[in-house]
Amino acid sequence: MLQNYQPFEPLIKRIRDDGKCLPGGILKVDSFINHQIDPMLLKQMADEFVRRFAGTHLDKVLTIEASGIAPAIMVGLELKVPVVFAKKKKPSTMSEMYVAEVFSFTKNKTYTVCCSKEFIRPDEKLLFIDDFLANGNAAKGMLELAEQAGAQIAGMGFIVEKAFQSGGAILREKGLQVESLAIIESLDNCTIKFKEN
Ligand code: 5GP
Repeated sequence: MLQNYQPFEPLIKRIRDDGKCLPGGILKVDSFINHQIDPMLLKQMADEFVRRFAGTHLDKVLTIEASGIAPAIMVGLELKVPVVFAKKKKPSTMSEMYVAEVFSFTKNKTYTVCCSKEFIRPDEKLLFIDDFLANGNAAKGMLELAEQAGAQIAGMGFIVEKAFQSGGAILREKGLQVESLAIIESLDNCTIKFKEN
């Protein structure tokens, strides 16, 4: 269950000012997160994630290409730990890897994502960072990769969670610490309705 949600006000303001609704429950934030990137906002958000996971030992940040990489790097920089991203295409040079299937909500297609066995080690504690949490398919794929490696996802941080999709509830039911900086209750009629804390 979602408890103690703290909206991160600089992000809420930016979404109000510059976020755009697309049909089908998609929020477009490509002027500051997904295409053009505002590194000052990313830095503020990374600091906030670090504050929220301060009590958790973390060895590495895990994300998935492409849109998770920028926020994950900023978090890795603040935590001073490496950042590893799951790839959507198997590099020809990679032999030993973990593999999972991930359905992409925005692209309506299933990817086979992979990560070299070199970069997720048994017993590592990972923080998964991504831009959006919708149905939780990317997150579930990362849980699978971690499980194959014998590593543990010790927390998950999302810039935007869409509460009208099922991912947040599924992940919290598993007992995971899931931190979202902005939670959107609805995008109906192309109006952004934020969850209040
Ligand atoms: P999930 O795997 O949780 O179903 O969906 C999350 C992934 O889909 C994120 O990595 C993100 O790239 C993409 N995504 C889902 N919903 C949205 C959205 O409303 N806007 C954008 N820009 N991407 C989204």
